[in-house]
Amino acid sequence: MTGKTHQALGLTAGFAWYIASVVPYYNPATLASVLVGSSLASLLPDIDQPTAQIWHKIPIFGHTAGKVASKMTFGHRNITHSLLGFILVNICLCNLILAFPEYWAIDRVTLFISVSISYGLHLLSDAFTVEGIPILFPYQRMFGIPPKPFEGIRIQSGKWFENLIVFPIINIVLLVLIISNWDKIKSILFK
Ligand SMILES: [Zn+2]
Repeated sequence: MTGKTHQALGLTAGFAWYIASVVPYYNPATLASVLVGSSLASLLPDIDQPTAQIWHKIPIFGHTAGKVASKMTFGHRNITHSLLGFILVNICLCNLILAFPEYWAIDRVTLFISVSISYGLHLLSDAFTVEGIPILFPYQRMFGIPPKPFEGIRIQSGKWFENLIVFPIINIVLLVLIISNWDKIKSILFK
């Protein structure tokens, strides 16, 4: 899957979890942190790819940093696309979010679950691609949905099915979520 699809999916899922679980009262900080957090977490597994979108967001040093990160994480689709990577990232995120000061008024549990869902969905959606993911890293075998020998019907990253079907559907879902929860969103943003 390409960066834009991962980002749309992570953002939509993080937001969906937030809007479904939130008690609507004025709290723009949590909403903003959920949107930023789930958006970044959706791109995080691809830090092992020097060409990944997340590195383009960093000016000047982004390209070099991407190459270094790729070497450190053993090349594309390795530890960051595994269960082990998912657990390690969750531990780091949990500690990071716990360090947020109380006066930022961010609901930490909600934020943590949103970013965790977003990261996890990146792995799940990559599992639907032809390449699959090394979910049991350091065991090097790639797994996917549906499993071999049916990998032929899996999605090809960046091709028509992703661009013309998957990406638009995710965006429509996000739009529907925003419109159908507009009253809730208003009470979160305005006093
Ligand atoms: Zn990926």
